[in-house]
Parts: sequence; C-alpha cells; structure tokens
Amino acid sequence: MPKHHSAALGDDQRQRLAARLDGKRDELIALTQDLIRIPTVNPPGDAYLPCCEYLGNRLAARGFEVEYLRAKGALGDSDRYPRTNVIARKAGSGPGPCVHFNSHIDVVEPGHGWTMDPFAGELRDGRIYGRGSCDMKGGLAASIIAVEAILEEGLDFPGAIEISGTVDEESGGYAGVAWLAERGRFSPPRVDHVIIPEPLNKDCVCLGHRGVWWAEVTVNGRIAHGSMPFLGVSAIRGMAAFLAKVETELYPRLAQRRTAMPVIPEGARQSTLNFNGLHGGLPAPGPADGFPSALVADRCSLVLDRRFLIEESEEEVRREMLELLDAVKAERPEFDYALRDLWSMPPTMTDADAPVVQALSAEIERLFGAPAQHVASPGTYDQKHIVRIGSLKDCVAYGPGLLELAHQPDEYVGVDDMLDSAKIMATATLQLLRRAA
Ligand SMILES: [Zn+2]
Repeated sequence: MPKHHSAALGDDQRQRLAARLDGKRDELIALTQDLIRIPTVNPPGDAYLPCCEYLGNRLAARGFEVEYLRAKGALGDSDRYPRTNVIARKAGSGPGPCVHFNSHIDVVEPGHGWTMDPFAGELRDGRIYGRGSCDMKGGLAASIIAVEAILEEGLDFPGAIEISGTVDEESGGYAGVAWLAERGRFSPPRVDHVIIPEPLNKDCVCLGHRGVWWAEVTVNGRIAHGSMPFLGVSAIRGMAAFLAKVETELYPRLAQRRTAMPVIPEGARQSTLNFNGLHGGLPAPGPADGFPSALVADRCSLVLDRRFLIEESEEEVRREMLELLDAVKAERPEFDYALRDLWSMPPTMTDADAPVVQALSAEIERLFGAPAQHVASPGTYDQKHIVRIGSLKDCVAYGPGLLELAHQPDEYVGVDDMLDSAKIMATATLQLLRRAA
C-alpha cells in the first residue's frame, strides 16, 4: 500500500482541494439547478427514476460503479410510481472503510406563496431557489462535488466512497433507506461512516433526533336527537373534557421536561405535543347540503403527535396519556375512550466522540476558526433507519442550508454555503478513510 495512505491530510492538500472546489462553483450551481428541475414531488413520488438516472449517469462517467435498486412491492411502490434508489460506489486504492453520503431525492409539494417557479432553479444574489433546494438537493450536490474534487485532485484513499440518492424520506423512508438498510446497504463491512447532508447549517453537526409517537384517541358517545341531548352522550363534550385536562395538566408538565439533547430550535428542547386533526359528529355541511340532521355526536377522534426526549421512553409517554384519559373517566363515568398507536420511532443520538462527528467537527473548526456546534433535530430523518436497521452508529446529518427554510415557499440554498460544506465534506472524508489505513 502506498505510504501516503496513512498520512494525515496536509495543508497543501487541503488548499488544493479548496481551490479545486472554488473552481467548480459554476458546475455546482448547474448540478443543483438540474436536480431542482427534476420535480421529485412526494407524494406521489414523481420522477424518481429520471432523478436516479441523472445521478447514476453523472457518477458512472466519473468511474463510479452504479446500482439502481427498486424497492419492488415496498410501501408506495407501483409501476406508475416506482420507488427506485441509486447507489454509486468508488473504490479506493486498497482495502479500508467506506464513507457513505446519503441524500433523499424526494421533495414536498411546493404549496402556495411562491414568488417564482419552484422547479426552475433560479439563481439570484448567490442563492438558488426552488422546492428541494435546501431540503436537500443542495446538500446532495455539495456532496457530489466534494467527492469529485477528491478524484480530480488525484488524492489517494483506501476503502471506498459511496453516494446514494434515496426515496420517500418525506414519507418515512420505508422504500428508501429502510429498505436498503434491511438489505445490508447501511451496515459494515459495506459501509462504516454515514453523512446525511440534510440542511442543518454548515457549521453544525447533527447528532440525532427526538422520538415520535403518533396515536389516535377516540371517544365514543351515544346517539340521540339533538333537541334532547340529555338522552344521549356527546362524544364531543367528552373529548372537550379530555382536551381541557391536556391543556391544564399535560402541557405545563411537558414544558418543564427539558432534555440534554442539543435540539434546535430552542423551543423543541423539551417534550412537545401537537394535535394533528380532530373530528367529531357529522361532517360539516357543504353550501348546497341544507341542514345537517339533529344528532348527538356518538364519536369524536383526535390524532396526536407527541415528540419525546432521549430521557423518556415510549412506554412512559403512552402511560402518561392513558392516565390522563382515566382521570377524565373518573370524573365522567360515561366517558368511553379507545387509544390506538399509529406510528412511533425512538430518539437516536450519536456519541459526540464518534469518528464521523470528530472528523466533521475538526474540519469545521479548521475552516471557520470556531468550534462546530453539535445539534439535534426536532423531527426524525433517515438516520433512524441506519441506526436501528443497519445497526450503524457512526452516522450524522451534516449539510448546507437553513433548516427553517425547509418546506417553505421560496426555499433556497446559498452557493457559498454549499461550497463551504463541500470543502468540509471532502477533507473529513479523506481523514475518515486515511485514519484507518
Ligand atoms: Zn430532508
């Protein structure tokens, strides 16, 4: 094995990489624009195949081995909307670990309020605008340019570098990272370190995320004529009593429950609860429907979204809700409820001294002259599948862009931010590969 394998990255090599990346600015802009112009909107999961082929063709032309992996039969997959993922692998000059950059290619629908075409990839004042520019095609483009710069500079590395474009992160990732992880694509010996270029700011390393528990509370009443409500039991009044208890007892308690996880923004550094939807009784009548029937509502249901902390367990979170429901029942004997679990995911947090955290943090500090910030995400992302299914702990999110812009109208990513991130990704990748040689 050549001797410079194990050599740490020298200042001259860092400078060459930085200069190379500065020279690729226009290429980075064009790549980001091309990706935004492929409208990979999810749902329904449009244009996944052309987007994967675009990435695969580009990387194959640069010597990567490219695989297209359709999650046939997985949640959401159909012939009309195939769930196709792409993984490109570039082997180094000898045996060694693998650094993998994973980006989701799907974007959420544009929604209202845009002042420009969400799929044009317009460049204005050093920012590229478009749906998915920030979340996360800008990060994907930065990682591609970073790896290409390493190859173009002829910098030797052992092991391998992989870049993947995966589907459905915005809808749970089951036909994307989860499906690939089940097939060993995110586990050693194939992959050792994973960087997910989600938009968490270029000077932040995101260690993980809070947990989530979605559930449905249904209150059952007894139907009766609306003119004699005392002959029935209103499910809506029962739900109102529960909601009042949540308001006066649970919310103050949740606000007190702070976490040691460095969650951003600050407001999410505690347990939170959102009501996703509430429905009781007959549907609201349309303009042409006339009067609704006079009925006491015999059913009212609520979907709730509870985000929990690494200090809490899902079991405790569920029990707390059940205790509240039972407290309502103690006060109103006719209160009849059912609680149904819809979906859950435990919190995850990578150790601050894990190799991928250390490598990225050191390069951030070197480039910006200030220590990297370690953060955690309020919501989950594909790291959950890599950690749980792939059993790979050396995984973080690191990428350009501002989290607050994700899913917003006039979403953008800054070109300078992408370039800075690409420099950090390139040098951190070489450090991770060479340290093991
Ligand atoms: Zn994202």
